Amino acid sequence: AGKIVMDGSPAEVFRQGATLERLGLDVPFAVRLADMLCEEGIELSDRSLSEKDLMRELERLTRTTEKVGKWESGKVGALPSPPPPRIPSPPRRAGMGEGRDGKICSEDVSYFYHKGLPMERKALSEVTVPIGDGEFVALIGPTGSGKSTLVQHFNALLKPSEGRVLLDGSDLWCEKMDLEKVHGKVGLVFQFPEFQLFEESVAKDVAFGPENLGWPAHRVEEAVEKALTAVGLDAEQFGPRSPMALSDGEKRRVAIAGILAMEPEVLVLDEPTSGLDPKGARQIVSLLKTLHREGRTIVLISHDMDLVAEIAEKVIVLNRGRLWAIGTPESVWGSLTESEDIGLEAPRTIRFFGALSARGWPLNGGVPMTMKALSQEIVGAFRKIEKCGDCELLIHSHRQEAKDVKCLHR
Ligand code: ADP
Repeated sequence: AGKIVMDGSPAEVFRQGATLERLGLDVPFAVRLADMLCEEGIELSDRSLSEKDLMRELERLTRTTEKVGKWESGKVGALPSPPPPRIPSPPRRAGMGEGRDGKICSEDVSYFYHKGLPMERKALSEVTVPIGDGEFVALIGPTGSGKSTLVQHFNALLKPSEGRVLLDGSDLWCEKMDLEKVHGKVGLVFQFPEFQLFEESVAKDVAFGPENLGWPAHRVEEAVEKALTAVGLDAEQFGPRSPMALSDGEKRRVAIAGILAMEPEVLVLDEPTSGLDPKGARQIVSLLKTLHREGRTIVLISHDMDLVAEIAEKVIVLNRGRLWAIGTPESVWGSLTESEDIGLEAPRTIRFFGALSARGWPLNGGVPMTMKALSQEIVGAFRKIEKCGDCELLIHSHRQEAKDVKCLHR
């Protein structure tokens, strides 16, 4: 509110995590992880601000003598046993929503912009992706990899140049398909949707979609109230207000409500948290989690790999218009080096886990998708490390046979 609330070195400021959170801000990854470890009883002497500092501090705690060769730094990035991330054709696995049984399926979809013209550009090449009913799917890939082009096929904004898209098992472009209904069934929230708010009141803006679907006035009214409530805005309070006079986070929620009001079975969102402050982003994430819990199919385009790891059940990776990988977040990020090939970094939990693993930490090997899981891995590893009372060497209780551990006292 225009006043200075904190002032100090980064370490001093970020030590006040609770206050920052109250202000709607966030602290760096390493600080949050260090806080969690401290809560678990690991006595970190200093608050590290970066992952590198935290790693150094963890190593300091577990190394009392320079003789412990196995704690030398290893190649950051390698994971214990990487499952193959590259899956040329979608895995046939129960619950992944494959083929006709899924909610949406693109089958060998190719798409050309400006087909037949000199500036023709192929944006998708034979993309087959199944999206199961009620699934939470993240669509990731570098800029220009075809994500937006693909999702515009899901609600028939674009027609495949080759291949087909099925919704509930029916070809979207077959003659009997009512495309108006498809637009209602699959709601698409574009990037920065708040730029598209244009009505004089929030209620009118949210009503725009359902009115276009030809719903009677009473149904539209009900839908508007329900949609605003779903996004956490009180309909009576916010309905009459001008969308332009809202905060960025509120505007974004109104824009999402405008799509939700059409009661779509599938909600596709392009970078819904981008440009929001941490508090606004948290509210959107919690909204998506709730909608998913209530049974909605969600497709999320995101560059925030930490968010994807936390929230998605299935990850689809596109690269240069092709399907590059598909599977659970664990399987897709099983190998860091390959995912970095196409310019995508793995979530920070996985990178930190990989770095620990490369340094010989006795981890269980389950790739952690959340910070909580990562902190538990670290705490578990601490419990497995013992110090020999005679020579002070550190020994992993389950790895005493390792050849670089020279302790002869056990
Ligand atoms: P992403 O969403 O992954 O950033 P897009 O689907 O927007 O990727 O773009 C895929 C490819 O199609 C890119 O090479 C992009 O330049 C091209 N493209 C996207 N929209 C158009 C358009 N309207 N006209 C011509 N080419 C386009």
